[in-house]
Amino acid sequence: MEISTTASTATVDDARLAEILENPGFGQHFTDHMFTVEWTPDAGWHAARIEPYGPLTLDPATSVLHYAQEIFEGMKAYRHEDGSIWSFRPEENAGRMVRSSHRLALPVLEVPDFIQAVDELVKVDQRWVPDAAGEKSLYLRPFMFGSEAFLGVRPSQHVTFMVIASPAGAYFKGGIKPVSLWLTEEYTRAGRGGMGAAKTGGNYASSLVAQQEASAHGCDQVVFLDGQEGKYVEELGGMNMYFVYDDGHIVTPEVGTILEGITRSSIIELAGKLGHQVEERKFSIDEWRDGVTSGRITEIFACGTAAVVTPVGSLKWAGGEVPCASEGGEVTTQVRQALVDIQYGRAEDTFGWMHRIV
Ligand SMILES: *Cc1c(COP(=O)(O)O)cnc(C)c1O
Repeated sequence: MEISTTASTATVDDARLAEILENPGFGQHFTDHMFTVEWTPDAGWHAARIEPYGPLTLDPATSVLHYAQEIFEGMKAYRHEDGSIWSFRPEENAGRMVRSSHRLALPVLEVPDFIQAVDELVKVDQRWVPDAAGEKSLYLRPFMFGSEAFLGVRPSQHVTFMVIASPAGAYFKGGIKPVSLWLTEEYTRAGRGGMGAAKTGGNYASSLVAQQEASAHGCDQVVFLDGQEGKYVEELGGMNMYFVYDDGHIVTPEVGTILEGITRSSIIELAGKLGHQVEERKFSIDEWRDGVTSGRITEIFACGTAAVVTPVGSLKWAGGEVPCASEGGEVTTQVRQALVDIQYGRAEDTFGWMHRIV
């Protein structure tokens, strides 16, 4: 892919950048540039460019605004101790975007083009990648949307793919704290044949009211059950789940209607290497309640790119509550540490997961 670059003449100055990187938060500050490439049926992908970050001008009839033909990815660039910059399994994000594009009837952006787009933006805005200390990173948001101006219901004949980047602080400031969960029995996030496995904004739009329900009950996050039987644990709004048993084996809900997290699949491999047997299968809400009550489940955690690995605390629903599985969280800590050590270059990358950008 041929990429043209127009350098920004209004970049954030060094003093201000240092201030931002000191305490970046999440998704609040954006780098000096953005990547864009457009697609039409006749021209295919064309006009790939890096240009100054700024607002888009959209016709009010732009299809994504009406029929939500949109998909996205979430990944990070990590700075290592020696100053080099790396991404984690970018070909997995690229491959997942190809699968999402099939489900949303969007054109395929080939894996190497996706990786090149991300790499080039990170190279141009490399001063925005925070120092290795403190588990900060540059969060990367590739996304694709129907950008044709029309009001008919059919796949958009003009599509835009972009990458934007935003420095991210450590998810847990002041120590890792378990998240409390609300079990929604009213809402589901996916059904058979639906979009559950696609990374699309629509899944998030439909999860927000359930998240509000969770907050109203004093919980941090919501957990969804399967849409068909209302019995099996799927995932949180944006994180996959793991259940650790007292004999060391680990269960994670099988794929199908859940989002196939790259953190999830990496943990399956890592936990195996750390000596845990990992089962991917249906996991019922009763197994959760009974397992914690009997003490057989000793730890529960959730995972995703943004938070990496988060311990899960209590589970509440309309009729009751089960407490946090355990306070210690040895396996959770061990898995989390093993993963971030690879990402930040502190442990040998035996799986070949890291991709050097700078
Ligand atoms: C992105 C996402 C995840 C986590 O996936 P990772 O690849 O691990 O970041 C989990 N659930 C949903 C619904 C998601 O959109």
